[in-house]
Amino acid sequence: MSIKVQEVSKLYGKQKALDNLSFEIKQGEIVGFLGPNGAGKSTMMKIITGYIPQSSGLVEVNGLSVSTDSLDIKRQIGYLPEHNPLYLEMYVKEYLDHVASIYKLGKSKAKRIAEMVELTGLGLEQNKKIASLSKGYRQRVGIAQALIHDPKVLILDEPTTGLDPNQLIEIRNLIQEVGREKTVMLSTHIMQEVEACCKRVLIVNKGQLVADRDIDFLSNRKEAKIVEVEFATEFPSELLSEIAGIDNYKSLGENRFSIVSNEDIRKDIFEFAVSKNLIILEMNTQSKNLEDIFHELTV
Ligand code: ADP
Repeated sequence: MSIKVQEVSKLYGKQKALDNLSFEIKQGEIVGFLGPNGAGKSTMMKIITGYIPQSSGLVEVNGLSVSTDSLDIKRQIGYLPEHNPLYLEMYVKEYLDHVASIYKLGKSKAKRIAEMVELTGLGLEQNKKIASLSKGYRQRVGIAQALIHDPKVLILDEPTTGLDPNQLIEIRNLIQEVGREKTVMLSTHIMQEVEACCKRVLIVNKGQLVADRDIDFLSNRKEAKIVEVEFATEFPSELLSEIAGIDNYKSLGENRFSIVSNEDIRKDIFEFAVSKNLIILEMNTQSKNLEDIFHELTV
């Protein structure tokens, strides 16, 4: 397993930014980390990269614990933080040289810098000052620095924010290119981003994981189902997770629930109600795509 996050919570003072988050990412996967602003995406990424500690729970990268092996982990991870902090007064090549020195690349430094310049399409810009570059080229510099030490895992926090449509396509292509060899986790609040780059999507809201699904169902245009159910009596909502085929659920209040699944599970809901002695007052099915589900789960 490339990234393992187990029951991770993070408190900033009294504010809970992450609430018992668990997921795993396999080697070579490109996973989109999707959620509205403030959902906890950056916080999770900073914890995975060892920049801030979690309040509780376990995080491992390639079998190493972020709590005890954070230096080793930094060597295995390439990280493009949100807002891409760069030294604007430095020249592109000078900056890459500086980052390569931090990773102690030694003799392979010059070759590696040349490879990164080539991969990220910085050939014509390599002798320019970073301050003079467009936002798209600055992102390329950010990705080049994240890759310079040939990490196995790449963590990109909102890599395409602020790019124009052409730059967007170029950076997405670059991410896909890089993703052929590496594990990539990228955060975004843009749905299309995930559709364009990722094989799998994790959706977070208010510090909790609200969905984990394969993106294939979108490209196949296979739609997920949402069933709205109203029960006659109150019961502990956690019981709903016993329904066969359930993906997720949300309480709509007054014993009403919105239940998400990949298939039609009305029969399973009915069987669940019978097994728990619950009476169903109403049940409606709707077909929804990822965008609807995102909206449904994160508002
Ligand atoms: P996202 O990346 O999804 O926009 P963040 O991880 O940045 O979300 O933030 C999650 C929550 O934690 C937000 O409510 C944010 O205000 C809060 N938060 C983030 N960083 C800090 C910090 N350093 N101190 C206090 N609160 C923070």
